[in-house]
Amino acid sequence: MSDLAQLTPSLLWQHFAKICSIPHPSMHEEALAQHIVSWAKEKNLHAERDAVGNILIRKPATAGMENRKSVVLQAHLDMVPQKNNDTEHNFEKDPIQAYVDGQWVKARGTTLGADNGIGMASALAVLSDESLSHGPIEVLLTMTEETGMDGAFGLQPNWLQSEILINTDSETEGEIYMGCAGGVDCVTNLPLTREAVPAGYQTVKVSLKGLKGGHSGGDIHLGLGNANKLMSRLLFTHAQSLGLRLQSFNGGSLRNAIPREATVTLSLPAANIERLKQTCAEFLSIIKHELDAVEKNIDLIVEPFNCGFKALTLDSQSRLLGLLNASPNGVIRMSDSVKGVVETSLNVGVVTTDEDRAQVIYLIRSLLDSGKEYVAEMLISLGQLAGAQTSAKGGYPGWQPNPNSPIMTLVCESYKKLFDTTPHIMVIHAGLECGLFKRPYPDMDMVSIGPTITGPHSPDEQVHIPSVSRYWQLLTELLKSIPERS
Ligand SMILES: [Zn+2]
Repeated sequence: MSDLAQLTPSLLWQHFAKICSIPHPSMHEEALAQHIVSWAKEKNLHAERDAVGNILIRKPATAGMENRKSVVLQAHLDMVPQKNNDTEHNFEKDPIQAYVDGQWVKARGTTLGADNGIGMASALAVLSDESLSHGPIEVLLTMTEETGMDGAFGLQPNWLQSEILINTDSETEGEIYMGCAGGVDCVTNLPLTREAVPAGYQTVKVSLKGLKGGHSGGDIHLGLGNANKLMSRLLFTHAQSLGLRLQSFNGGSLRNAIPREATVTLSLPAANIERLKQTCAEFLSIIKHELDAVEKNIDLIVEPFNCGFKALTLDSQSRLLGLLNASPNGVIRMSDSVKGVVETSLNVGVVTTDEDRAQVIYLIRSLLDSGKEYVAEMLISLGQLAGAQTSAKGGYPGWQPNPNSPIMTLVCESYKKLFDTTPHIMVIHAGLECGLFKRPYPDMDMVSIGPTITGPHSPDEQVHIPSVSRYWQLLTELLKSIPERS
């Protein structure tokens, strides 16, 4: 840790070292929260918490800056607890062991928590740095962002007094975020009926493997293969001619990851097994050709399988394969207001079957609430056609880009002035808390900035030291330039 204390800006790194020393995985942020509140009170800063545990700390303007607009600096308190298999670490008790490796700060065998620990440290450094010049400051630290944005969901109106919010949770220095997608899960449940496998049938397992997978938001525009969609296409096309009788279908493991693998078990007349293998080989060469630019390692394997399951009735089978094969997937619409950015998408994330039910879990994302609703309605009508029940749950709103945002313009001007280059204005097709802040604070002018962090949410997480210093320069320059209240 003494390692980190040598780095500049030193106040920021000292706060970050302290944050690393107090365990704060999602759902276990209390010790860190209490430390921060008592620290603020010792410094005679106003500090309070709301019903969900969010922390609000106020620091008055510095001399001569009293007329400036008030600004909220915002970060989330929690970090994602991930470790390597060979690392002994108890995230609820053990400090993160951060160290310097060249231009990067890393952690020994675990996530570092630079997401969003550097943002949090920068906000605390603004509170403790007496050499800065700024208007009234509020620091908002939210609870449990990584596992459900609990703090952002619970944020009440009329608590914050500022009209500008700077979110510190983006992960590439030089990119300024002005919008993000909202999301909603859709779950379709299809009742299944089964019957005995006809005599003379043999059972095989068919596995589609080797797809890249990726983040269902950030990577959805890449046109990667979706194992659930490819498998259902294969089966729907050839079920009748090969006399296939499906027993199980399992694909994908997370709703927010593009599925890399899907496995089915099915029975067919013994005489058709060779034709199935041939069909699979042909299908493999077709999809390899279609996806050649993005998928290099697809494989489709047919192997013998002993299964005690009954097969789906032909009616259940055609409903399930029809449902999956007709399901929309991927990019639905690109944004007109921000070029090159996906407006609405969905991911057919997880498909499972058990004795009497098939379940499909979709994650829909959109910059617009109406875009999410449109896709959810499509899935509901598709479910109706198939005789399934579809319900939407866990929705959170997007942060719709405002190309005329004054804080956005100011960040760009400050960046150009400091670094003599134009920053990239970005909209992320994934969730940030800002979308939720717009509900209690619809008029809040918001922007998101941060240092460069690679491998977040994994033990490879690291933060680029020079980018932290540039991020700090930008943040403090920005605070100095906030305009007067009108
Ligand atoms: Zn984060």
